[in-house]
Amino acid sequence: MPARIIDGKLLAKQIRDDLAQKIKAMVNAGNQQPGLAVVLVGDNPASQLYVSMKQKACAEVGIYSEEHRLPASISQEELLAVIERLNKDPKIHGILVQLPLPEGFDEQVVINHIKPEKDVDGFHPINIGKLQTGQKTFVPCTPAGVMKMLDSIGIDLTGKKAVVVGRSNIVGKPVAQLLLQRNATVTICHSKTNNLAEECRQADVLVVAVGHPELVKADWVKPGAVVIDVGISKVGSKTVGDVAFDEVKEVAGWLTPVPGGVGPMTIAMLLTNTVAAAN
Ligand code: NAD
Repeated sequence: MPARIIDGKLLAKQIRDDLAQKIKAMVNAGNQQPGLAVVLVGDNPASQLYVSMKQKACAEVGIYSEEHRLPASISQEELLAVIERLNKDPKIHGILVQLPLPEGFDEQVVINHIKPEKDVDGFHPINIGKLQTGQKTFVPCTPAGVMKMLDSIGIDLTGKKAVVVGRSNIVGKPVAQLLLQRNATVTICHSKTNNLAEECRQADVLVVAVGHPELVKADWVKPGAVVIDVGISKVGSKTVGDVAFDEVKEVAGWLTPVPGGVGPMTIAMLLTNTVAAAN
């Protein structure tokens, strides 16, 4: 039986609809409208697209948003000054600096400058530390979206073997942490892992966040496994994930599509974090 598809687009719409209701109720009760500032440095076309999608999503649910487009020629000090102003701006509850930053910027220094209470991406070391120690914090948006997708199929992760491919700070590591918190037995694989296919074949839950088109083949997947494809790559004019969808769907129990899977969930979780920041 082919895999059942976890429809991220549909799930994200449900989350956005709920948020829209919540924001309406907040504002009707006399509370401030949640506000998000998105900072974009340089003219990376993919970043521009992501930023406009995020702003559109804000407008749809009733989040105030402002975009700060800065030329790649600005200095790091000037960028930090913009963040400093936003840190102090009472209209702004969440600040997002679109990554990657152009050459010459120290991303970690820039992230460290965002007030942790406004760090809706959950990338500040204080928030990462809180996540690591099981404290309430902003969970990074893509990992939070992955967990929502797993929750949507009602899987109990206790004792399940979870394999995460990719160890980035924004996806792989926090996903692994969240799976661990749910009592899964977690293996993190990366570019230096030996026998990657063999590791993946052990997984009841396989989360792939690499950025290598269709890396994961059908014979890497345990029959019936849940496969979450985080990857996004352009192959010609087509957007593809890290999982060879057509063949893996014949083996997996559940599978996320690309596009229409984790991507829309990431944006929905950004909105969720922004509303939480305003409360
Ligand atoms: P990254 O480049 O920071 O990290 C990639 C990871 O993959 C690294 O840890 C590396 O060790 C590992 N890796 C590289 N080649 C490998 C190989 N051959 N075998 C095993 N592991 C390998 O990337 P990232 O920011 O974590 O993003 C990963 C992918 O997810 C990208 O395609 C990105 O576009 C996508 N992404 C999607 C969303 C979304 O909303 N859907 C959000 C963030 C990232």
